Amino acid sequence: MPAIGLGTFGSDHVSADQVAAAVEDALAIGYRHIDCASVYGNEARIGEALAAARRFGLRRDELWIVSKLWNDKHSESDVIPSCRQSLADLGLEFLDMYLVHWPFPNFHPPGCAVNSRSPEARPYIHENFMRTWRQMEKLVDLELTRHIGTSNMTVPKLRLLLRDARIPPAVNEMELHPHFQQPELFDFVRANGIEPVGYSPLGSPGRPERDRTPGDTVDLEDPVMVDIARRLGVHPAWVAIRWAVQRGQTPIPFSTNPRNYRANLAAAAGQPLSHADMAAIAGIDRNCRLIKGQVFLWKQGQTWEDLWDLDGAIEQ
Ligand code: NDP
Repeated sequence: MPAIGLGTFGSDHVSADQVAAAVEDALAIGYRHIDCASVYGNEARIGEALAAARRFGLRRDELWIVSKLWNDKHSESDVIPSCRQSLADLGLEFLDMYLVHWPFPNFHPPGCAVNSRSPEARPYIHENFMRTWRQMEKLVDLELTRHIGTSNMTVPKLRLLLRDARIPPAVNEMELHPHFQQPELFDFVRANGIEPVGYSPLGSPGRPERDRTPGDTVDLEDPVMVDIARRLGVHPAWVAIRWAVQRGQTPIPFSTNPRNYRANLAAAAGQPLSHADMAAIAGIDRNCRLIKGQVFLWKQGQTWEDLWDLDGAIEQ
């Protein structure tokens, strides 16, 4: 898996055309790993960008293309068709990685308000998740994807999956940035041979209003990040990407600005940070989760913390 990927979640303010243009140009300058998902609503346009890149000489085996099963497709009969749809949209015969986007089958319409709740919403039910996972395993057998993985999992959920899976997850995609380092989950996945892929590696400065809460902190304005950046003559985003790669996670920063996605790629391949700088960044973790997942809650009176099994038990 290439050490850095390009995120493609344009949310509600960056169009599919803009994202696809960034993908095509990013592939031209050296990106090889693209993080897609059916729910981002832009896989067909990204497929055109991939086709253009291949016309210019990129081989399929040089690419690492990820897609994700959306929450409304967890039922046994939906998993394989959903993967096939992503393949058709992306113009590919196989994926390198297919992830279960969230461990809940709870569906909400794209762009819905943060306080909207679906009456159909349910907690994590391991037996149901395993039914979905068995179909994910079949996708590997059918050679529709080379690898399968999870996203937004917790240690208790992963323990059950590792106990019961025939094909264990190869990666867990999780929120990771200097103010949200998730050391326990990070250590757990690495100890179990699962690669951590870090989303929102810059602290998602462009996330929509509905994903902002008053206590959120800003990684790229942290004095430690700013001081290191100033000393090295780089942007704090460079420090965040460099730190991520060096720590051992795979960052997937989103950008449609050529200067920024170029700089992020350069950071991944850049000069290492010193041990002192790595230690200083390890010290600024604020446990500040930005993507809280409120819309997936299933009971009245719950708070977003209930999604993340903070007491070590799976919330029912
Ligand atoms: P990021 O931390 O990647 O932040 C993206 C924002 O940072 C954009 O507004 C971008 O603006 C800006 N930016 C990018 N590079 C720079 C730079 N060098 N200097 C200054 N600003 C910069 O957050 P995301 O939340 O977008 O996460 C990245 C990707 O992770 C998503 O696109 C998606 O693929 C994935 N993801 C997966 C999730 C999951 O559940 N599995 C959840 C959330 C995200 P500009 O375009 O102007 O450069």
